[in-house]
This record gives sequence, structure tokens and C-alpha cells, in this order.
Amino acid sequence: MQTDTTVYDYFKRPLRDLRISVTDKCNFRCTYCMPAEIFGPDYPFLKREELLSFEELERLTHIFVASLGVKKIRITGGEPLMRPNVAELIRKINGIDGVEDIAMTTNGSLLPKYAKELKEAGLKRVSISLDSLRDEIFGQINGRGVSVQTVLDGIDAASDAGLQVKINMVVKKGMNDSDILHMARFFREKGHILRFIEFMDVGNTNKWKLDDVYPKSRIIEEISKVMPLEPISPNYSGEVASRFRYIGSEDEIGVISSVSDAFCSTCNRARLSASGMLYTCLFASKGHDIRSPIRSGLNDDELTGLLQDVWNGRKDRYSLERSTTDAERPKIEMSHIGG
Ligand code: SAM
Ligand code: SF4
Ligand code: SF4
Repeated sequence: MQTDTTVYDYFKRPLRDLRISVTDKCNFRCTYCMPAEIFGPDYPFLKREELLSFEELERLTHIFVASLGVKKIRITGGEPLMRPNVAELIRKINGIDGVEDIAMTTNGSLLPKYAKELKEAGLKRVSISLDSLRDEIFGQINGRGVSVQTVLDGIDAASDAGLQVKINMVVKKGMNDSDILHMARFFREKGHILRFIEFMDVGNTNKWKLDDVYPKSRIIEEISKVMPLEPISPNYSGEVASRFRYIGSEDEIGVISSVSDAFCSTCNRARLSASGMLYTCLFASKGHDIRSPIRSGLNDDELTGLLQDVWNGRKDRYSLERSTTDAERPKIEMSHIGG
């Protein structure tokens, strides 16, 4: 019989989901994430030796799964497919007993090259980010003039390889709110679940303002006028997206409403940065260094104890407290902490 290794935080939330950022680099410069004027040619990205190696990541993932109750792994970044041989990491993680799900969040541009080998390595699902179907708008948002077709090719490559696909669209007022209906129709027809993400105040470089948030209620209202929607229950406790179904069908969409409707009470996610910092909230100001202890020779039991202490002491619920929190306080950038 397997023993229950679940760890709980200060508010009795279990740890279930580990997001691993494998690089802080990206081939896009999305304005809401890595604005080009800040993430320029001289930006001090992490050096190779600063990154956790695949062996270190495998060891840590094994500890998280075997001794701390983690069941799901998501690989993210930066752009995770910029890290050479990421399929090898997926293969290693897939070999760990107790991992129930491995997913990746990607901008999709490199999927035509890698989708097949990722699937073969054991990846199950991909969330692919696309914010508009209009080249002019999308090219501006991604900061590199990348075409919509590049991402659509990535989506097709992932589907053809047998990966489950969801689409992520960050909605920001004045940036792409006029694309909501177009995107909803397009991906309903294509048979992919589209998830709208409210523009969030992650990091300090994206000039976030509450006024720029296009809230869940308006997204739903707008789509419902043309294609009526009804709420449906979550697939599991801790699911970040609220789900809605087009009435009279099985087609659905999701909305991740971190700003207008916080979901901290069920948040069961930890984030490991590419440099080995562990964060217990997406909006964290500081993390816990895991790379130094792992490189100084701690054994598995000692590492387990350290990770348990971090989770036991967790009191984060930033989105619930956002209105009373200082918006200017330093926060870790999205490309570092991993989305
Ligand atoms: N590069 C990959 C990608 O874009 O999918 C993975 C990393 S990215 C940081 C993860 C997710 O965070 C993406 O879906 C992205 O659109 C989203 N994201 C980035 N900055 C955001 C922000 N300020 N507000 C809301 N979502 C954001
Ligand atoms: Fe890169 Fe993803 Fe951030 Fe866009 S959202 S800049 S693709 S890491
Ligand atoms: Fe979890 Fe922090 Fe987001 Fe709340 S604000 S849901 S604690 S990541």
C-alpha cells in the first residue's frame, strides 16, 4: 500500500502541481511578459552553469513526487523549446513513478520541429499561446513580428503528433479585446479548448494597470451574446480555469481570472525557476534557493525536509489580497518564474 505523502501549507492547501521553468530565454518579446525595451541584447540571461541540469531536475522531481505528493508536472519558461534537448528531460520525468501528467506551455513556434519527439518522450498535453488571429496585432504583441501562421503550424504539428492541445490567449484591454469572438469561433470550429487569461501584474516591467484588465465577466458576456455559454464544474479541485460550455454542445472554453475572481484558496502549485529558485506564488517577491543545497551535497532526506519546510510555511494568496497590496513591490518576472 502506498503511503500518503501529501504536504500542506499554512492554509491547509496540498502541494500537487510542480511547474518547472527550463530557461529564462525566449524567441518572442511579448509586450505583457518580456518587453523588448527591457529584455534587449544586453539583458543578463542565465548562463548555462546557472541552470539546473536535467539530472538535478530529475532528482528534484522524483523527490517532489515520491515524498511531497506532487502528481502533475508542467514544463515552461521563457520558451521551454529554446532549451536544447528538452525531450530528454520529458523522457526522464516520464520515467518517474507516480507522475500522472506531463504538460508544457509553449509559444508554439518550435513545435513543427519538436512535437513528434516530445510526444514520443512522454509529453501528454501542450498549452499553446496565441493572442490574435490578425498578423498585424499578433506581430506587435509578440514583439518580433512572428506570423499567426507560424503558431497555427505549431498547433497542427502538436495535434498531428497526438498531443492534447489547449490554446491560451492573454486578453488586455485595447490590445486584443476585439479579437475575443474571432478567437472563440475559430478554435471552436477547430475543436480546441481556448482559455482566456486576464492580463496579470506578474513582475514589474509590463506596466500593468487594473484598468487594462478585461475581466472574465465581460469575456463571457461578449461571447454569450452570439454563442450562449453556461458554466460547468471544474474537472478537479485546484483547476485554474473556470469552464464554460456552449449551450447545446460539448464544446467548451475556459477563463483564468486571476485578477477579477481569485482562486488562491485552492492553489496547489509550486514553481521552480531555471536557476533553481522555488516559488510558492506566481506573484512572489522572493524564492527559496534549492540549487545551492543540491550542489552542496544534501542527500534526498535532507532535501525533502527543506522542501517540506518551504511548503509548510507557505501563506501566499496574492490575488485575494491584491487590492490591499502595494502594486509597486518588487516581483519576479514571468519569464523567470515560469507561467
Ligand atoms: N513561452 C511560453 C508561452 O508563451 O506559452 C511559456 C511561458 S509564458 C510565461 C506562460 C504563459 O504566461 C503564456 O500563456 C503567456 O501568455 C502567459 N503570460 C505571460 N505574461 C502574462 C501576463 N502578464 N498576464 C497574463 N498571462 C501572461
Ligand atoms: Fe516568451 Fe511566452 Fe513570455 Fe511571450 S509569454 S515573451 S512567448 S515567455
Ligand atoms: Fe496561487 Fe499566488 Fe496565484 Fe493565489 S496569487 S492563485 S497563491 S499563484
